[in-house]
Amino acid sequence: MSRNVVTFHYTLRDTRGQIIDASVGGDPVSFVEGAGQIVEGLEEGLRGLAVGTKAHIGVPAAKAYGERDETQVQRVLRALLPIEGEVKPGDQFRAGSDAFAPIVTVVGVEGEELLLDANHPLAGVDLEFEVEVLGVREATKEECEHGHAHGEGGCGNHDCGCRG
Ligand code: ZN
Repeated sequence: MSRNVVTFHYTLRDTRGQIIDASVGGDPVSFVEGAGQIVEGLEEGLRGLAVGTKAHIGVPAAKAYGERDETQVQRVLRALLPIEGEVKPGDQFRAGSDAFAPIVTVVGVEGEELLLDANHPLAGVDLEFEVEVLGVREATKEECEHGHAHGEGGCGNHDCGCRG
């Protein structure tokens, strides 16, 4: 079964119309279908759209960054954490030393303890995308293996860390 590389621009808002993120004004986004590069609900909404299509795609939290899990909010002794200096609510840092450790958000400071939220910042948020499809083409075998789109000149043309 062949898979496509889809290139699109988007503006992302929450349900109150606040802009969260946008590609418009910068580089468009390209992804390989089925590679899990973009949130599930957005990929479903983009599937089958022709080049030039502008669409509104509403994605419930469950098909975006998931529902909030209150058990992910934990009280931790500050001394156990790899942080220095002042800490205030809203600060974010990686909960471990490897690159895949989750990002946690400080939601409270209580003496020597911090209240940390390991939910994704967009967990529980319903997302509203405005998209414009700029390109659809068949993915190459190499792109399918890598799970991301390549630019002109192949993989070496972008910073995907998968060379060699
Ligand atoms: Zn690659």
